[in-house]
Amino acid sequence: MIIDGKKEAATLIKEIKNEIADLKKKTNKVPSLTVILIGEFAPSRIYVKNKEKNSKEVGIKSNVIKYESNVSEKVVLDKIDELNKDKNISGILVQLPLPNHINKEKIINAIDPFKDVDGFHPLNVGNLASGYEAIIPCTPLGCLLLIKKVEKNLSGKHAVIIGRSNLNGKPMAQLLLKENCTVTVAHSKTKNLQSECLKADILVVAVGVPNLVKRDWVKNDAIVIDVGINKVENKIIGDVNLEEIKDKVKAVTPVPGGVGPMTIACLLNNTLKCFKYR
Ligand code: NAP
Repeated sequence: MIIDGKKEAATLIKEIKNEIADLKKKTNKVPSLTVILIGEFAPSRIYVKNKEKNSKEVGIKSNVIKYESNVSEKVVLDKIDELNKDKNISGILVQLPLPNHINKEKIINAIDPFKDVDGFHPLNVGNLASGYEAIIPCTPLGCLLLIKKVEKNLSGKHAVIIGRSNLNGKPMAQLLLKENCTVTVAHSKTKNLQSECLKADILVVAVGVPNLVKRDWVKNDAIVIDVGINKVENKIIGDVNLEEIKDKVKAVTPVPGGVGPMTIACLLNNTLKCFKYR
């Protein structure tokens, strides 16, 4: 089975849109998302444009604040402070990566945790790790929703995650632990990665190496989630060789059209969640 991320995302987006319409009727208010975009990095500009478009489609008020790449850290921190205090703003997102002179940690820590739609603030990270209510980073949340479309009860499954970034691998591990999986987190220093992968009932690959996972790396009937986005000869491909494994595994996500659309849908979901917190 090839998991249709576009279809699953469309279903989630429809639910979010309906809920926002209902809330608008009851309260005359809608969620609002402010994105801060710094510099001219082309992929960031495309992501932000898509976020703006998708927000508007579901009824979220969207606003993008753009700065030149030489903006000072203080200007950005002051703007975040202003947005934190603004009762009409439900969610704040600072598009990463940031220019080198701006400290990512300081920026993330400055965002009100209840407006932190990316789920990167240490309070949300800590709450997720403790198994408490948290805003969950969009990509791992999207991965979990796709896994659960294939298998509802994950208890006792062996999950292997390749990648340990704060963005993907670590929160993914926490989410699968919460689902009672036995979790292995692999990374660039892992010895014999192939044999670790062969143990996986659920394999999540978030690395950024094209076609890293091959046919003889997966066991029969595994669920494989490919987070990777790699540009090779002008084509976007993932970290998993889909053609090699698709008839061996139980389910696998394609790239594009797998995790990507779910990431955007989960951002809208997190914005709605932040609005409801308020
Ligand atoms: P990252 O911060 O660069 O982390 C990559 C991880 O992979 C690190 O933990 C690294 O190990 C590990 N790694 C690197 N080479 C490896 C190898 N040969 N074998 C095993 N592990 C290896 O990347 P990221 O931000 O998590 O993103 C990962 C991929 O997902 C990228 O392709 C990115 O574009 C994509 N992505 C997709 C979405 C989406 O919506 N689909 C969203 C975000 C990111 P060390 O920790 O030891 O260095």
